[in-house]
Amino acid sequence: MVVVMNSPVIEITQLSKLFGYGDATNVALDAVSLAINKGEFVAIMGPSGSGKTTLMNILGLLDSPTHGHYALDGTPVADLSHRRRARIRRTKIGFVFQSFNLLHRLNVLDNVSLPLMYHGQNKLSRAHAASRLLKTFGLQEREYYMPHQLSGGQLQRVAIARALVNRPSIILADEPTGNLDTKSSEIIMNELKEIHKRGNTIIMVTHNPSLTVYADRVIQMVDGRIDSDTAVKKPKKSKDSKKPLGGKRSKKSRGKDA
Ligand code: ADP
Ligand code: MG
Repeated sequence: MVVVMNSPVIEITQLSKLFGYGDATNVALDAVSLAINKGEFVAIMGPSGSGKTTLMNILGLLDSPTHGHYALDGTPVADLSHRRRARIRRTKIGFVFQSFNLLHRLNVLDNVSLPLMYHGQNKLSRAHAASRLLKTFGLQEREYYMPHQLSGGQLQRVAIARALVNRPSIILADEPTGNLDTKSSEIIMNELKEIHKRGNTIIMVTHNPSLTVYADRVIQMVDGRIDSDTAVKKPKKSKDSKKPLGGKRSKKSRGKDA
């Protein structure tokens, strides 16, 4: 009886996050329940202040809920040691934030290869992996530039390359194309699409309704709650010229009745 296979990769139940105390208490998340299966591409939308970033931070183990339950890959996160959480963050989760969070002392190549330090690869193979990915993002000419020498769109592409270099199974992207020009947005969305096709789980916050075409499912948040959770209907047209880069695709199965 192999039931475990179908358990959601992310499952939160009645999860709340409060900031502040007493009269000044701010309910950022209000008893949110949500299950996300392996290989889903979920878009999260909603007005500013509706709790999207707070949710992403908790899903990415950067913050803890005030109340409620979170299981990642079937393991209750509350049971994990700090060390174990840090390890999961480094190996399993790729973060793409609006604020680029690049290290300003390091050049582009070193920024992108940094996450591989924890994977026991030697410097040369780390540089190769980083370089390969930078090429995908059209940044091969910029490998030895420092972050301050790049444009906003280039910085965001570097940040995404860094988030993806260790092939995390879960990508958390908080407005990855916010403030980017159309061309940079397209490069980033195409890369996310590729990663999704390889079977990875993607959760992306966006303000741009046209980007929801990339998603399987769109969640609308309002006032710290899930207001709607809708499957995206896709026209059957997958005439992609790019071939999948190994890895098996996972069949999606929605385990939620919402
Ligand atoms: P969104 O990403 O949807 O704009 P956030 O998750 O950033 O929303 O914020 C949700 C609510 O929680 C907002 O009212 C915000 O002011 C509040 N909030 C978020 N982070 C903090 C914090 N570190 N301290 C106090 N309040 C916060
Ligand atoms: Mg936000």
